[in-house]
Amino acid sequence: MSTGMNINIAHPPDLLKKLSRAEIDHRIIEAEEKLSDSLLILGHHYQRDEVFKYADATGDSFALAKIAAKTSAEFIVFCGVHFMAETADIITLTGQKVFLPNIEAGCSLADMADIKKVEEAWQEISANTGDRNIPITYINSNVELKAFCGRNGGIVCTSSNARSALEWAWRKGDRVLFFPDQHLGRNTAYKMGIPLKRMVMWNPEQPHGGNLPEKISRSKIVLWNGYCDVHQHFSKEYVDYLREKYPDINIIAHPECNFEVAQSADYMGSTEYIIKKVRESARGTKWGIGTEKHLVNRLQKQFPEKEIYFLQDYGPECETMSSIRQIHLLFQLENLVECNMINQVSVEDKIKKYALIAINRMLDL
Ligand code: SF4
Repeated sequence: MSTGMNINIAHPPDLLKKLSRAEIDHRIIEAEEKLSDSLLILGHHYQRDEVFKYADATGDSFALAKIAAKTSAEFIVFCGVHFMAETADIITLTGQKVFLPNIEAGCSLADMADIKKVEEAWQEISANTGDRNIPITYINSNVELKAFCGRNGGIVCTSSNARSALEWAWRKGDRVLFFPDQHLGRNTAYKMGIPLKRMVMWNPEQPHGGNLPEKISRSKIVLWNGYCDVHQHFSKEYVDYLREKYPDINIIAHPECNFEVAQSADYMGSTEYIIKKVRESARGTKWGIGTEKHLVNRLQKQFPEKEIYFLQDYGPECETMSSIRQIHLLFQLENLVECNMINQVSVEDKIKKYALIAINRMLDL
């Protein structure tokens, strides 16, 4: 997982597992009341409903990072995944504490780039092409990569602001090293008019990342070869099938989807963008949505007057995010009531300092 320190890892005891849903619900509400204003629960859109319903604020990783930066709550319980809790710890003040109710909730995409390999790639690309390279890390990344961007004139981005981050970077330099999600980088850069032939993919297991050095020199963006498993379940074939069945359907895809899916969609954007588009659409409109199951299921329930479909014949789930259950939240809150700081996510000061530089650049975009 990540290098952010996980302090006092603890899991719910068997005794709690015997409680009924109603008992768990009652005890969570009781703990929330006791913790009152000292507590802020954040819920990501991909979270299960059984946990999401307790969130004081919901959003995508960008929206939640901005809320975490503003809150004065002492305890921030992050119902998301590990990198989100790390980001919250970086941008909150000393004295505020961030908790991840199940410390196992990681992100497979974030795990696809590690600092050693990124530093090797950076050195080679810089030696090959000169100094005007800018690193950008997607927020779905290990905190050390955010610190790397802070130290090397780079920036963090989310799926909401990847375009602004790329514009910012290309104003400062000639070429971007974008990690860990190749699809967000490729889909966004292509929309900005960068042709595919000016993009290269970096495979850290191959010499020169699997490229001819001249091709790297000509490139505008070097894409790390990471991807989100969840968003690879969608296919252009299924988009074609939906279009044939429902000729007036609107297809909307998250930028973590592959290039073919993104190209065949009518719209592309972050989860916040997807929700806004569907919410603001007319009654009776049809939507094929390429993102995680819990968000799409929630939209189906929220807007029964619209027809909403997955971009596959099932809804793919972010299993790590889903590993936070109602019982984990209960265990977390009752421990906080007892002043037991379990499952705290805390980033070392020396890493935090540089990661904050790259995050603040993003928040200033
Ligand atoms: S949906 Fe993909 S990118 Fe998002 S948290 Fe899950 S594994 Fe990571």
